[in-house]
Amino acid sequence: TTELARAESLIATIPDFPEAGIQFRDITPLFADGPALRAVVDAVTRPFAGSFDVVAGVEARGFLLAGAIANAAGVGLIPIRKAGKLPRPAASITYDLEYGTDKLEAAQDLPAGTRVLLVDDILATGGTLRAGQQLLEQLGYTLAGTAVLMELVDLDGQQVAGPVHTLFEV
Ligand code: 5GP
Repeated sequence: TTELARAESLIATIPDFPEAGIQFRDITPLFADGPALRAVVDAVTRPFAGSFDVVAGVEARGFLLAGAIANAAGVGLIPIRKAGKLPRPAASITYDLEYGTDKLEAAQDLPAGTRVLLVDDILATGGTLRAGQQLLEQLGYTLAGTAVLMELVDLDGQQVAGPVHTLFEV
């Protein structure tokens, strides 16, 4: 739709952030625009309508998307947090970054078998979403799907975390 095309045009490309040579895709202008946010929330969840009980987002930008989706769909949300933030982590997973490792944790607030839609803003290498998928699996949840707003296709994250539903490719 034209509203989606307009939403995509609001994503800014910032050279050399957070370090030299990286082209950072900044989605805050899209999130700041009400009709654009509504359009992407609608489009990113449409293939999964009726097939998820709850939405999970990865800290921190994934929280923003998960919150908006949860409200629009009338479902709850699961925050997947960086290690050390949750008082009652029930599952944790360590995963590789370009340099070093990181660790994600989640609580067990819902029964095994709950169908979870996992979301984040950007699919880059796929390492973060793969870790999120494995974390949800540890909790006994059923993955209803994985979705992002934008995919950096050169990094081939679909190989690692696919299939990932994505609205925009760059
Ligand atoms: P991964 O390489 O694991 O797929 O991505 C790592 C994390 O960094 C993900 O949460 C992803 O959303 C974020 N990320 C990677 N590149 C960008 C980018 O260019 N812009 C934004 N906003 N987030 C990014």
